[in-house]
Amino acid sequence: MARTVQQIKKVELHQHLDGSIPLRTTWGLMKQHGLNPVPTLREMRRLLQLQEDEAGSLLSYLDKFHYPLWVTQFYENIQRVTHDIVEEAYAHGVRLLELRYSPAIHTFGGLTLRQAIRAVFSGINASLRRHTDLEAGVIIISMRQHGPHIAKIIARQSLAEAQHLHERSGVVGFDLAGAERGNPPHLFRDAYEIARRGGLGLTVHAGEDEGPEFIWEAIDLLGADRIGHGCSAVRDRKLLKRLARDRILVECCLTSNYQTGAVERGAPHPIHAFLEHGIPVAVCTDNTTVSATDQTRENRLLLDRLSLKEIEAIHRQAADHSFVRKVPFFADRGHRLAARPTSIPRRGSSRSSRACP
Ligand SMILES: [Zn+2]
Repeated sequence: MARTVQQIKKVELHQHLDGSIPLRTTWGLMKQHGLNPVPTLREMRRLLQLQEDEAGSLLSYLDKFHYPLWVTQFYENIQRVTHDIVEEAYAHGVRLLELRYSPAIHTFGGLTLRQAIRAVFSGINASLRRHTDLEAGVIIISMRQHGPHIAKIIARQSLAEAQHLHERSGVVGFDLAGAERGNPPHLFRDAYEIARRGGLGLTVHAGEDEGPEFIWEAIDLLGADRIGHGCSAVRDRKLLKRLARDRILVECCLTSNYQTGAVERGAPHPIHAFLEHGIPVAVCTDNTTVSATDQTRENRLLLDRLSLKEIEAIHRQAADHSFVRKVPFFADRGHRLAARPTSIPRRGSSRSSRACP
């Protein structure tokens, strides 16, 4: 059965670059730069993968992202880690991959935002040249803790590197990530407006560490096409109906959700409630290294309640919701937003808005 699951053509819509660098790649680069914080690969694994006794909190999960940053401040290293991530995904049957990351946290060593983005394209393109049956694109993340002004700068930079401006891979979407508490989606409305007008696909990490009201905001105020995690939506029937009605896909990351405490241990994963309500979903890894998982493993977790055919159908549907296949600047998008009960408020003439960078 495991072999068969591995062979399914998969669509990966929610995978973070920083949390998915193969352990040996990080270890090798650290050795090359003389940076190893511990003497053995085994000990390094403990630092990069969430351990059993650390599970249950989003903050201890996010703590695993520090070490890779030591080596991913250099163009060639970013190229290399990206290439290794894509190759690993391909080996697990991924044929459409949207890789996401925050370029801002790769500029500490002097890279510009543009260089930090192009290094990822370069790594992806090496794999695209090798695998002609692979489609891939980049989702740019703005970190919540960097604040709404930086989010606008990142959104503009994302437009400058949009897929239609590049021969191969390019930026296809915009996302908001980082600790939800204290950083509600509505603060990032202007950044999403920039990304939306520029034709990027919009996704938002919401309802992972906060209640359904954050998902409502992501939909109504940011115009999200997809929701990352969205676990708390199961507590709100009206919201489930809305997600189904507007065909808003939820990017489900099973292993990660139990590890961060977004879903209680022993409780059924919300993906089953989403499917029952007719909400489109994607099966995603979130972070293959931090979560010690891969696409084969995530799909295998569904086998107790779903058939292989049903899992295959989920991936086919997810492809329809991918940003990689979305035509930029398509005309009907504004109509869809306007048709929603609470349309995105237009940018007002408030002083704070004009003063934004
Ligand atoms: Zn995520």
